[in-house]
Amino acid sequence: MPTFVYTDKCDGCKGGQVTACMYICPHDLMKLDTTRMKAFNQEPEQCWECQCCVKACPQQAIEVRAYQDVVPMGGACIPLRTEQSIMWTIKFRDGEVKRFKFPVRTTSVGSIDPYGNKPGAGNLNDELLFTEAGKTLLKI
Ligand code: SF4
Ligand code: SF4
Repeated sequence: MPTFVYTDKCDGCKGGQVTACMYICPHDLMKLDTTRMKAFNQEPEQCWECQCCVKACPQQAIEVRAYQDVVPMGGACIPLRTEQSIMWTIKFRDGEVKRFKFPVRTTSVGSIDPYGNKPGAGNLNDELLFTEAGKTLLKI
């Protein structure tokens, strides 16, 4: 089932140009109603329930209701992500609640240099692949 937004929780990411849910959705589905400052899924039938927006929302305002064969009626599976970990709250339909917390990264936020030590970084004008810098092109 596609995402839906609890409008009482959504604060429109405090008026930012691009909200967290808009930024993260790989399918460009989340949209901000700028009159009400509430987000919504503009094409629910296209949502593949990847949970990215659910994890990214700082207000925990988005929910995906899972299909019954995954989470039986009355159950819920709710992620809560922080910078270092993600906690899944599993609510069983008999009322039992279990929580599972996992680390999501081993380095601090913003510390990764994706081009570090790669010789070809930044040169987009030759025919070599990213990791082939320094090699000689074969002339045929
Ligand atoms: S990320 Fe959450 S709080 Fe921000 S606009 Fe989307 S639903 Fe609202
Ligand atoms: S669950 Fe995934 S595909 Fe659906 S709206 Fe959220 S980010 Fe987009």
